[in-house]
Formats: sequence, C-alpha cells, structure tokens
Amino acid sequence: MSARKLTRQQQWRIDKVQDERNTRALRKDKRLDSSHQEGLTTEPQQGLVTAHFGRQVEVEAVDGALQGQRQRCHVRANVENLVTGDYVSWRANQNPLEEGVVESRQARRSLLARPDMRGVMKPIAANVDQLLLVIAPEPEPHANLIDRYLVAAEHTGIEPVLLINKWDLMQQGVLTAEQEALINGLLATYRQLGYQVLISSAYQEKVLQQLQQQLKDRISVFVGQSGVGKSSLINYLLPGVDLRVGSLSEDTRKGRHTTTTARLFHFPVGGQLIDSPGIREFSLGYLQPEQIAQGFPEFRPFLGLCRFRDCKHKEDPGCALKEAVAEGKVAATRFASYHHIVQSLSS
Ligand code: GDP
Ligand code: ZN
Repeated sequence: MSARKLTRQQQWRIDKVQDERNTRALRKDKRLDSSHQEGLTTEPQQGLVTAHFGRQVEVEAVDGALQGQRQRCHVRANVENLVTGDYVSWRANQNPLEEGVVESRQARRSLLARPDMRGVMKPIAANVDQLLLVIAPEPEPHANLIDRYLVAAEHTGIEPVLLINKWDLMQQGVLTAEQEALINGLLATYRQLGYQVLISSAYQEKVLQQLQQQLKDRISVFVGQSGVGKSSLINYLLPGVDLRVGSLSEDTRKGRHTTTTARLFHFPVGGQLIDSPGIREFSLGYLQPEQIAQGFPEFRPFLGLCRFRDCKHKEDPGCALKEAVAEGKVAATRFASYHHIVQSLSS
C-alpha cells in the first residue's frame, strides 16, 4: 500500500468520524425541532451556563418567570466551546426533567483558559470580572508565583485583586520578624504598582463582610497556592454549599469517570463565584517573552527603548529596562521575577 493511499484512507476515516459526529448532533437538533418541540418554550430567553458536562450544559434562567431555575440543556451543533460563565440564548423545557436547548452564545467579556496536558489552551470559565489572588504569611508566598498570576490576569483582561489572608496572624504577633517584613513588603510593592490589595482573615467577621462587598455584582474566581485559606474563605461566603459538588459524574449512563467541572455559585449577599480545582490552580500558558514583559505594567514605558530590538534584557548593552532597575524605577524583585517566568516557560 502506497504511503499516499494510506494517507487518503486515514483521511477518509477521519472525515467519516467527523461526518458521523455532525450527523448525530444535527439529528438531535432535528428531533428537538419536531417531537420535543412541545415541551420547549417558544420564546428564547437569556441564560447563564452554571456547569458543563461534555456536550451538555446546565443553564440558569437570568430573568423572567423561571429566574434562578436551572436545567440541563442540549447544545445545538453550531454552538461551540461553551464554558461555565457563558451567557446564552436558550429555550427551557416546561418539563423540568427534560432537556432545554441552547441556541446561541453571547459575546464574552473575558475568557479564562488553562493549558491542557499537551500545552494547548482550553477555555475554562467565561465572563469572570475579578481574580482574587489569595496569599498568606504561611505558606510562604513567592513573589514569582504572584507575578505569574498577575501576568495571566493582564493577558485575560480580568482585574486581579491581591487578598492577603490570615491577617489575624500578623496581629497576634506569632510570626517571625522576617515573615512580617515579607508580607508588609509585598503589600507596599503591589499597592505602589496600582494593584488593589485587601487584607483578609477567614476568622474575622468584620473583614469577611468587607470582602463580601468586594464580591458583589461581579463574577469572581479565587486562585492561589494550596494552604492559603481559599476553602476557608469560600466556606464562609457560601454557607451550606458543599464545594465537592464541583466533582460530578459527566455521564453516569455511559459509565464515564467522574470529572471536575467548573461551577457557578451565587453568594447570598450578591455576586457570583466560579470554582473548580482546575481554576484554583490555573496557570500561565505559553507566552512570548514580549508578552510576559507586557504583563508587568511598570515595564511598559521602557519596552521598545532598548538599543537592540531583540534585547533579552540580560547582558545586552543599552538595555532600557536594566537601566530603569538601576535607577529604582522598576523593582529588582519584579525584574528577577520576569526572568524567572520567561525561563520557566521556555524550558
Ligand atoms: P486552601 O488550600 O487555600 O483551600 O486553604 P484552606 O482553606 O484549606 O486553609 C489551610 C489552613 O489554613 C487551614 O488549616 C485553615 O484553618 C487555615 N486558615 C485559613 N484561613 C485562615 C485565616 O484567615 N487565619 C488563620 N490563622 N488560619 C487560616
Ligand atoms: Zn532590554
């Protein structure tokens, strides 16, 4: 068998699988147009995707008579890549046990993505307004990790808010002088850069109430390393919600494994949270060094001013960024953090 023939045959097989998939989806669309039509409401309405299970999504009615109610929905074949947080146009099924139908997706304000095992970016949540980056005196925060999240936030256009949790430890005087100095240093550095920095404690009601105000009227996600207090904060903010509900079986009838889907929750005092283990650990996908540099807002006035266009900002003579560091216009720690990120993403 010639190589060309093999390729053609392979292509034919790929096309066939693709065709079958499309046919199945279209057949389902058709069925919905005829027999299931009765159960479906005639007027499409606005909905919010609150969870995602393979080809199916759970949609919540945003307004109208069904406001707040959720229903599993079939997604029409022409609507691609829905994720939790997406606003859609959908038709509910009057029988709550039947499926509704998602007809189209609305434009997104933002999209949070995460590299999969092969490094391909996969969308995980849409329309997130703020990224609450939680740090604490313990476990010891690494400026480099904070900066990674900030660069990611700059790229997705989602507003980052730094939340210094376990502030009670700062007040109790149980920390070492180094730990206190580190936290105070981070607080000063990031405030000076113009980032919003809030102090928080999962144990102090008053602080938590201020945090609730910050979360109102927005879709938020909590990120940060393990042990900083994300679960403790979320448990307070979402009383009675078992966060393990993030793990749901994708399709039990087919015996598939339990998968973890991002879920959308409403805070009782207003605002929404999208949460999943994958979101909490979301990380930077591959970025070019120039894109990483752009993610450091205080570097921007100096970018493009280096003598060489392809300046690596290392040993290169005439580096405007290095000059800015020497003159104290850019913090040396942030500059080191930049190189650390560039190196880790290129290896
Ligand atoms: P997560 O891994 O980020 O979800 O962190 P957890 O919520 O599981 O918290 C890790 C540990 O820190 C637990 O032992 C919590 O009790 C503790 N913790 C969480 N928030 C605070 C806080 O505000 N102050 C203090 N002192 N401990 C906290
Ligand atoms: Zn340079």
